[in-house]
Amino acid sequence: MNNDTPIIYLFRRDLRLGDHVGLSEASGLGRPIIPVFILDEIFQNYGAAPQWRLGLALTSFTETLANISSKLTLRRGNSLSVISEIIKETGANEVHWTRAYDPAAISRDKIIKTELELKGLKVKSHQGHLLFEPWTVKTKVGGFYKVYTPYWNSVRDRYIAPELPKVEKLRPPKLWPKSDELLSWGLAFKMNRGADIVFKHTCVGEDKAKDRLQEFISDRVMLYNSSRDFPSKKGTSGLSENLTYGEISIRSCWIAAHESFLKGNEEAEVFLKELVWREFSYHLAYYTPHILDRNWRDGWDKFPWSDSSESSDAWCRGKTGVELVDAAMREMYVTGTMHNRGRMIVASYLTKHLMTHWKVGAGWFSECLIDWDPAANAMGWQWAAGSGPDASPYFRIFNPDSQAERFDKNCEYRIKFLAEVYSDGGQEGIDYFRAIPREWNLTIKDSYPQPSISLADGRAKSLHAYSNK
Ligand SMILES: Cc1cc2nc3c(=O)[nH]c(=O)nc-3n(C[C@H](O)[C@H](O)[C@H](O)COP(=O)(O)OP(=O)(O)OC[C@H]3O[C@@H](n4cnc5c(N)ncnc54)[C@H](O)[C@@H]3O)c2cc1C
Repeated sequence: MNNDTPIIYLFRRDLRLGDHVGLSEASGLGRPIIPVFILDEIFQNYGAAPQWRLGLALTSFTETLANISSKLTLRRGNSLSVISEIIKETGANEVHWTRAYDPAAISRDKIIKTELELKGLKVKSHQGHLLFEPWTVKTKVGGFYKVYTPYWNSVRDRYIAPELPKVEKLRPPKLWPKSDELLSWGLAFKMNRGADIVFKHTCVGEDKAKDRLQEFISDRVMLYNSSRDFPSKKGTSGLSENLTYGEISIRSCWIAAHESFLKGNEEAEVFLKELVWREFSYHLAYYTPHILDRNWRDGWDKFPWSDSSESSDAWCRGKTGVELVDAAMREMYVTGTMHNRGRMIVASYLTKHLMTHWKVGAGWFSECLIDWDPAANAMGWQWAAGSGPDASPYFRIFNPDSQAERFDKNCEYRIKFLAEVYSDGGQEGIDYFRAIPREWNLTIKDSYPQPSISLADGRAKSLHAYSNK
């Protein structure tokens, strides 16, 4: 084999140079590397906010590569067809990528591998998206885990290899393949006027992700357990946005928090556990791929959830009349993320009080979240609805008022996001009305609605349906 024959590195949700197992190995071979991102069917189907945020990640990664005299080739279409074209254009004979674990990505990658190998090309996939690959974590009888705590116990003390140094150089090929212009993909199109608002809350790219981790570890992780449940506090890391696009590796997050834990910071262990919830979601998606689009538990298909309705539309728009629910829904629309406590409350309210199918909520989240992740989102929704593994029991119905009393006692979160209710709120509440589609026809001067069902009636209705399941 000629040492000048290029290798294609296919980037997906691993847009970084630091601690990059696959890229380090491929570049270490000393041959030219062609970094490629393909907007395939999977990315084309992304919702508005994730697709727009992907565009920001790609812009940043293009600059990162330019700084080391390399280049991101952007192409759109079926992955296998595009790779085959690039091989023809450049003479590349080897393709590498970081493994993904959701069912759509797995089936795409299997096809690519089989077809390229049939043509005599070398294909290599690498670990990087997860700390613990699903097939390496087994129960004592060789099965997979359906409950989080034993999963955590089985991985918590595992050896984690040190981080790899940042890739500083990628040898360029003699000939770069042709590339699309990122703007021509229109990734911001579906965001409409929300883009400028959400942009203010983003933290894009590898350098900023690293800073975000360092800032969290040097300060907030010490108080993580005691502050992470309060949506008005900056108590969590915010790293989901960066982990989603691979702007930071999960291993970097683990190692930083683990060092803090070893230095005696016990609250860091709670953060490690959260990172492992992400692992667990992919464990489940790998072994039970139906978790993404069907009730995970048997016997739930006849549960009397409704599909979209007037009340679920009000939920999407942050107009249910239940302040904490509406504040959280607006937080998502304005910032592109929602505090975990908010996610649990709004999901419980939709699936229990409003008796609406979790897929309606999961679908709306997949449109609005810049940290949208197929596995974490599905697991979170099925947990809240009761249809998932390790799910919240049916009688656990979050009462948004008592949640507000516990976690937003001084009303700061609600004041921040509900501009028509609290005139002393911040810019975010006003921004909500600037971000939403004009056709919703909502203004800050509208009166705040009454709930379509009282919390007590919603709870009773839901308990009745769940206990008769
Ligand atoms: C209904 C519902 C939907 C959700 N949808 C998503 C989603 O689309 N994308 C997403 O990344 N998370 C999702 N989560 C999980 C969780 O809410 C977010 O990961 C968290 O709020 C992100 O904020 P953070 O980075 O500040 O988290 P931190 O508290 O700082 O936690 C660190 C990291 O741990 C992981 N993590 C934490 N909690 C969970 C969890 N419950 N499940 C899986 N991973 C977790 C995330 O990668 C997170 O970035 C969802 C939860 C629920 C209840």
